[in-house]
Amino acid sequence: MTASTIAAFAARAAKESLSPYAYEPAPLRETDVEVEISHCGICHSDLHLIDNDWAVSTYPLVPGHEIVGTVVAAGAASTHAVGRRVGIGWQRSSCHECEQCRAGHENLCRKQEATCVGHMGGFARRIRTDGRFAFDLPAGMDAAAAAPLLCGGVTVFAPIRRWGVRAGSQVGVIGIGGLGHLALRFLQAMGAHATAFTSSPDKRDEALRLGAESTASSTDPREIRTQVDRFDLLLCTVPARLDWITYLQTLKPNGVLCLVGAPPGLLQIPAAQLLSSQRVVCGSDIGSPGSIREMLAFAAEHGIGAQVETTPMAQVNEAVQRVRDNKVRYRMVLTN
Ligand code: NAP
Ligand code: ZN
Repeated sequence: MTASTIAAFAARAAKESLSPYAYEPAPLRETDVEVEISHCGICHSDLHLIDNDWAVSTYPLVPGHEIVGTVVAAGAASTHAVGRRVGIGWQRSSCHECEQCRAGHENLCRKQEATCVGHMGGFARRIRTDGRFAFDLPAGMDAAAAAPLLCGGVTVFAPIRRWGVRAGSQVGVIGIGGLGHLALRFLQAMGAHATAFTSSPDKRDEALRLGAESTASSTDPREIRTQVDRFDLLLCTVPARLDWITYLQTLKPNGVLCLVGAPPGLLQIPAAQLLSSQRVVCGSDIGSPGSIREMLAFAAEHGIGAQVETTPMAQVNEAVQRVRDNKVRYRMVLTN
């Protein structure tokens, strides 16, 4: 152990619980910052990584990519000052040279790296990462409520913007978890009409309070069918297979089904469902640094943060289990 050793929690193998783990960070590069972590959200992607669902995990694996903390060291070329409060999300680097990076779509860079894929994430006391992917938090923003914005928030905000949602748009949000509840808050602030699709009966009243104007079951085809021809955009946050063909019927002509959740296996959709009514099925990958800045400013302006449960980092395994059991309302945030 040295002064630079970082105390963290790691999974030693796929699907294992986390245990204390200490590591030596790589030397601080000139664009890097070192951040003392105060809060880290648990995104469902952390569970996919722990379980190696995407076959990209390396162990020991320190999850955590919804990070808020204070800059304690900054490289010579970093624009961050020591003492500043910053947030860090899923992405930790990009090449800054390719067509996508130059167009401000760094989240689509082929050379991008993720905060906790092959690097040590935010279930830790500190983190060293590229300061170009650390974002100043607006003054006055509550740290626990802000942490989930860094991944969950931008992941729903970016496609809402990309697909031109505006006041009066009809949007269905499928799955009211960490991502879904933030989508409801953003949509309400934009004046869009949101319908919350949920598999949890007890979330229906809460979804109305979070900004939805109506609710429906996400798993009962008869109830989904009552929404036929209604939506400009369906944003699906569910990490499981759903009845996609019935959901497609709820889109208006030119309507868009955008997946941000990561269900396993194949999407099986008859081509005719896309041809008629010109429906679009697409995905969306976090958001660019520009989107993150825009989302943080929008959240600050409209007083939007996550509704969180907080738990000391030492209770990480109990906290992860609550996420697995879909018991959290609506984002679990670990605190140091
Ligand atoms: P979460 O907090 O666990 O919420 C997911 C919600 O989906 C649950 O609360 C539940 O909502 C619903 N759900 C879960 N299992 C279901 C099932 N078997 N059938 C029907 N509904 C089910 O997860 P999250 O953090 O919001 O993440 C959601 C997904 O987005 C994950 O797959 C994650 O990896 C992915 N993600 C993607 C990106 C990206 O860049 N595209 C970024 C972040 C996360 P109800 O209780 O309302 O039914
Ligand atoms: Zn995430």
